[in-house]
Amino acid sequence: MITEKSKPQASPSLDPIPLSVPEIHGNEWRYIKECLDTNWVSSVGPFVERFESEIAARAGTRFAVATVNGTAALHVALLLAGVKAEDEVLVSTLTFIAPVNAIRYVGAWPVFIDAEPEYWQMDPSKVVDFLERGCRWHNGALHNRQTGRRVSAVIPVHILGHPVDLDPILEIARKYGLKVIEDSTEGLGASYKDRPLGSIGDVGCFSFNGNKIITTGGGGMLVTSNEEWARKAKHLTTQAKNDPIEYVHSEIGYNYRLTNLLAAMGCAQLEQLETFVTAKQRIANRYAKGLRLPGISLMREASWASSSWWLYTVLVDNDVFGKDSRQLMRSLNSRKIQTRPLWQPIHLSGAHRDASATKMPIAERLYQQALSLPCSAGLREEEQVRVIDEIRAISAGAGPQEAPLCN
Ligand SMILES: *Cc1c(COP(=O)(O)O)cnc(C)c1O
Repeated sequence: MITEKSKPQASPSLDPIPLSVPEIHGNEWRYIKECLDTNWVSSVGPFVERFESEIAARAGTRFAVATVNGTAALHVALLLAGVKAEDEVLVSTLTFIAPVNAIRYVGAWPVFIDAEPEYWQMDPSKVVDFLERGCRWHNGALHNRQTGRRVSAVIPVHILGHPVDLDPILEIARKYGLKVIEDSTEGLGASYKDRPLGSIGDVGCFSFNGNKIITTGGGGMLVTSNEEWARKAKHLTTQAKNDPIEYVHSEIGYNYRLTNLLAAMGCAQLEQLETFVTAKQRIANRYAKGLRLPGISLMREASWASSSWWLYTVLVDNDVFGKDSRQLMRSLNSRKIQTRPLWQPIHLSGAHRDASATKMPIAERLYQQALSLPCSAGLREEEQVRVIDEIRAISAGAGPQEAPLCN
């Protein structure tokens, strides 16, 4: 159940409307209290196991391993996939930076893939094009023709709650023996051709940070149906301890486990996932009805997809709308409505300037035009109406002509 937050009554129309905030109205207090009452607060405990098995059930994988955050899950996924230093890994350029950073943690290099224009996800045709023409088979592995490096994995990042079109990527990955790591951190509750995200590649990763569809404050999960990989993931995330009594270690491990306290919150949040996804769908539908304005392109859902509508985003065409996405952001901000552009595409990022990059025109245009709108699962209808009305008013004031009311 989503209950309304208590709000000051004086001037409700002036309350700030945040972009995306957690909803904490389920069993969170109860389960966390149970940890405190029983002394099970650390990285072993009944809620860790329960959270793992419940996420595995949702994701449709045999195993799940809880991690301290989504970035740690991605790091471990790359280790499981056997990605080595100086290898190359294909990754979406239009993404939050975490998966690209994780590629560098193992000493490998990102090969950026542009987005497709319809759903803004990794473009499978660009993946195929790079692997078929930009690479050659040599000494039993695929190598980038230009750099000579071995290509060992692909990380499709499902952004904003919508899936990447995975089938062509899986097909070519199988052909060349590449591992597929799904960054499904933004896609819990979404599916591709009726299969839950995270279960389709070799391994999937989730995040439960503060603004994800469910949150533990900070947390993550690695999911896979490969038993050997699941066992290894658990080993690597617990300092690769071979002997729990003697503390003998035969390889370098990490302190990457999630605590029982946070897993308790995760279990409570997961009970509300359907409610959250339904709320996000309702929000998306209302925006789709209310924002049919010249110069605004709406977020869409492919026929083969079921989106969780995690972060509702529109494109603002400056030439038609009369303001660009940043001007609209500032106008809305002055009316206490929080919005945000998408991430700078990572091929433009100073942090990854050493990776080879070409122009990525679609991602660059999306970066210029995209604006994410308030879409917390608990967003009230009157708040959303205020967001829509403000955007319509700005459109009417800024555009070359009155915005027609259409449905
Ligand atoms: C949130 C997110 C992650 C991981 O985030 P953590 O904060 O480490 O849990 C990774 N990739 C993408 C695309 C994300 O949005």
